[in-house]
Amino acid sequence: MRKHIMTQSPNILWFRRDLRVADHPALTAAVESGAPVLCLYIDHDFAGRARGGASKWWLHHSLKSLKADLKSLGAKLHILRGNPDVIIPSLVQEVAASAVHWSRRYDGDSIELDKSIKSTLKDDGIDAHSHSGSLLREPWEVKTGSDTYYKVFTPYWKACLKRDDIGPALPAPKSIDGWNGNIKGAMPIDDLELLPTDPDWAGGFDDPWTPGSAGAHKRLKSFLKNHVDDYKEQRNMAANEHGTSGLSPHLAFGEISPREIWHETHKVGGNTYTFLSEVGWREFSYVLLYHNPKLGSENYKEAFDDFKWQNSKAKLRAWQHGKTGYPFVDAGLRQLWATGWMHNRVRMVTASFLIKHLLVDWRKGEEWFWDTLVDADPASNAASWQWVAGSGADASPYFRIFNPFTQGEKFDPDGEYVKRWVPELSGMPKKYIHRPWEAPDEVLAKAGVKLGKDYPKPIVEHKAAREEALGRYKDSRG
Ligand code: FAD
Repeated sequence: MRKHIMTQSPNILWFRRDLRVADHPALTAAVESGAPVLCLYIDHDFAGRARGGASKWWLHHSLKSLKADLKSLGAKLHILRGNPDVIIPSLVQEVAASAVHWSRRYDGDSIELDKSIKSTLKDDGIDAHSHSGSLLREPWEVKTGSDTYYKVFTPYWKACLKRDDIGPALPAPKSIDGWNGNIKGAMPIDDLELLPTDPDWAGGFDDPWTPGSAGAHKRLKSFLKNHVDDYKEQRNMAANEHGTSGLSPHLAFGEISPREIWHETHKVGGNTYTFLSEVGWREFSYVLLYHNPKLGSENYKEAFDDFKWQNSKAKLRAWQHGKTGYPFVDAGLRQLWATGWMHNRVRMVTASFLIKHLLVDWRKGEEWFWDTLVDADPASNAASWQWVAGSGADASPYFRIFNPFTQGEKFDPDGEYVKRWVPELSGMPKKYIHRPWEAPDEVLAKAGVKLGKDYPKPIVEHKAAREEALGRYKDSRG
């Protein structure tokens, strides 16, 4: 090993949102170069903003898992912190590296950063290779007949399926000839201080989640074996923990590739179209982000720029804390706080409630999700918030306002989800669990609920809030 350090120029493999060793084209290329591979992770802002608290929790565990996987193959994971634009060229000099490999990212800030690093390295005569590794297809690959990107999901996905050109998933390297010396400034994962301490709000994350590639593959295997057949019927049922795959944080951190999911799902056959088309929504979100770098901060449809938001801080706070008085909404926000994840149907209902019932700008909700979701993703989060707001591409129209209690009655008919996350309502009968304000006094008394004391009264009245939202929408169109 020492001999390598002294004599052979390493290839640097810069890990980012691709924390795995299997189906990793950049890692495979670095290994196949024949040079020793210096495996590197740099802690820095992501997508132009500070990482959210829940993402940090996930990252800590994911790095530990990657470190162990690399160690078993023969390589050390070197961790640095700071600006990659400075760190990478200086590390290249320090270890006399001959090439740097990474998997592409597609948000505007990362693209700019990568371009800048690539150009510095090229000027210094160093090979800089960016590889595809996070999507089934690059966001510029699939185009309409008029040579533009797709702005509507269904034709986009049909065009993707028609191509039928997803390459095979690459196996993990059998071993890695790791460049395992010491580098300046390297730090242990614990020193990144990614875990919450005072208070440790992540106590409820350990139970549902096993960050890392092994956890991702176990989850995929179990989902495909036991649940994918029921996905179409069960995916909207909020209380069913197995109704959806739960793969989103694993995908967000690149612990499993969409290509692996694609091929493993095809192997089981059967009723998998709906599941794979959701993976397609992730791809489509990246198409939108790539072509609209400000998707997370600016309305895709400019017509929404004139919308008069109320932006009440008190209402935003009540929503964040799951205290709106609408049980299905509150259950979702409390699930999010407790586990770092929320069911997709409930994400739609809670987002619609914030935007349309409480008249809070979708960007405030996007920020909250960014901070609290373990799967916080610059493409899916931005595209989905804009979808709900009606300001996005192929969006749900603004006048589609989810009814927060009938949605609960439809997608949580027994109130099981509400009872799990809003325990103060656990004694309520099914008939009133989604609308406790309609329950007669004796029913409330029997359930041990005093509205306004044990559980809030509705923060806004549904019908009036709906009318107000529609009125403001009409006004903003002039
Ligand atoms: P499954 O139903 O098992 O789907 C499989 C995979 O497909 C998911 O893991 C995910 O990667 C992808 N996927 C599913 N639905 C969508 C979708 N609507 N848009 C894009 N990709 C999808 N997803 C994120 O990964 N990160 C986010 O930050 C995020 N923010 C969201 C914000 C709002 C307001 C809404 C309405 C949705 C958001 N989603 C986000 C999309 C979706 O809710 C989650 O991907 C899904 O709930 C993850 O659960 P799952 O892995 O069990 O999904």
